[in-house]
Amino acid sequence: MTSTPAGLSEELFARARRVIPSGVNSPVRAFGSVGGTPPFLTSASGALLTDADGREYVDLVGSWGPMILGHANPAVVEAVREAAGRGLSFGAPQPGEVSLAEEIARRVGPIERLRLVNSGTEATMSALRVARAATGRDVVVKFAGCYHGHVDALLAEAGSGVATFALPGSAGVTASTAKDTVVLPYGDLDAVRELFAARGDEIAAVITEAAPCNMGVVTPPEGFHRELAGIVHGGGALVISDEVLTGFRASAAGYYGIDGEGWTPDLMTFGKVIGGGLPVGAFGGRADLMDLLSPAGPVYQAGTLSGNPLATAAGLATFAGLDDAAYAHLDRASAALQQLVAEALTTAGVPHVIQTAGTLFSVFFRSEPVRTYEDSKAQDTAAFTRFFHSLLDSGIYLPPSAFEAWFVSTAHTPEVIDRIAEALPAAARAAA
Ligand code: PLP
Repeated sequence: MTSTPAGLSEELFARARRVIPSGVNSPVRAFGSVGGTPPFLTSASGALLTDADGREYVDLVGSWGPMILGHANPAVVEAVREAAGRGLSFGAPQPGEVSLAEEIARRVGPIERLRLVNSGTEATMSALRVARAATGRDVVVKFAGCYHGHVDALLAEAGSGVATFALPGSAGVTASTAKDTVVLPYGDLDAVRELFAARGDEIAAVITEAAPCNMGVVTPPEGFHRELAGIVHGGGALVISDEVLTGFRASAAGYYGIDGEGWTPDLMTFGKVIGGGLPVGAFGGRADLMDLLSPAGPVYQAGTLSGNPLATAAGLATFAGLDDAAYAHLDRASAALQQLVAEALTTAGVPHVIQTAGTLFSVFFRSEPVRTYEDSKAQDTAAFTRFFHSLLDSGIYLPPSAFEAWFVSTAHTPEVIDRIAEALPAAARAAA
C-alpha cells in the first residue's frame, strides 16, 4: 500500500514515539488512519515542503489553514524577523494587537470588540464562557461532525436521536461537563426547534462551524444560518459562529462574507490565517457581550502570550497580502484542482463527490452528497487511503484523512497545479 518515507523520517518517528505520545503533538499527524510513516518536515517554501530525507512534496495542507500565502512568504518572514528584533514578548499592550483587531473588525461586520488568544481552542472555550455568563444558562448545543478544538465541553460526539445528551467524546471529559452539551445532527433545524421547545431556558448558545470543514467540507444549506439565528435568538440564546478554519479563507470576510445576509452571529471565533503561521486565535462580536470580560467585567480570561508581537506581525503581513487578487488566485487554483480531481476520478470510475465552501473543498469517496457526519463517515475510506498513498509517492502531500478540507495558497501557481495533475491519474486508478 505505502511507500511513505524510509530513512531519516523513519528514524525520527521512532525517536519521537519514545518521548512524545504516538510521536506527534497533534493526533492526525501520526497518519493513524492512512498508515505509514509521516514525513518529518525540515523546510517549506511557497507550495513546496521538504522532508528530512530531502524529498519534496507539493503541499495541500498548508499547516491546516494558516499558510494561505504559501510557506516562508518573504513579506511575512521579514515582518516576523523585524518584530523579533524588537523583542519577542512584552506581556503588555503593543501596537500590533490593536492593528490586528482593527483589521479583523474592518473585514467582518459583526465584530465590534475582539480579544486575541493563542489558539482556536482557546477562542471557542472563551466564547462559550462569555455566552454562559451573558445568559446565565449552562447548556451548549453543537452539531455532530463540527470540530471546535479540544475544549472539554465541545468534544462531545453525536448521540443517535434528537437532543440526546452526549456521552463524553474523549476519555477524561467528565460526565458533568458532557451533560451540559447537546449534540444535534448538522443542518437539522427541526431538531433545534424541538430542543428549544423542550429546554430553551437552559440553553446559553448554539455553536456551529461557519461552514463545516472537519467532517470534510459540508456546504451549509441555503438560509440555514438565518433560520438558526432566528430560532436561537427567539429562545434567548446566542449564536457562536466558528470561523477558525473558514475565516479569511472561504472569502475575504470568511464564510460570513458568503452567507452573512439576514443574520448576525453574537460571537465569532478565529484562528489559523490571522496568525500567518504563528500561534493565534481570537474571539469577538457584540460589544455588550465582549465587555463582560475582565477586568471591566466579571468573566475572567487571560494569556501570558496573548497578543504576542511576532504573531500579530505575521498576521498583519498575511492580511496585507490578502487582497482581491489573492482571493481571485485562490478561487482559480481551487477550481482548477477540483476539476482535475473530478476528471481523474471519473475516468478511473471512482465514485466521488466534491463539496466547497468558498475556496475550501473536500473530495468525498462516495457518490451521494454529504450533508451530515453520518454521510461523511459512510465514505470509502480504503479508497481514500490508496489515493492518498499514491499521491504521497508522487510527491503530493494531501491531508492524511478522508475527513479534511484541502488547502491551496497563493503560491499554488499553474505550474504547481500541473505537478498535481501529472500525479492524479495513477492515484485515481489506485483508488478504483
Ligand atoms: N475550530 C475549528 C473550526 C477548527 O477547524 C479548529 C482546528 O482545526 C479549531 C477550532 C481549533 O483550533 P486550534 O487547533 O488552533 O486550537
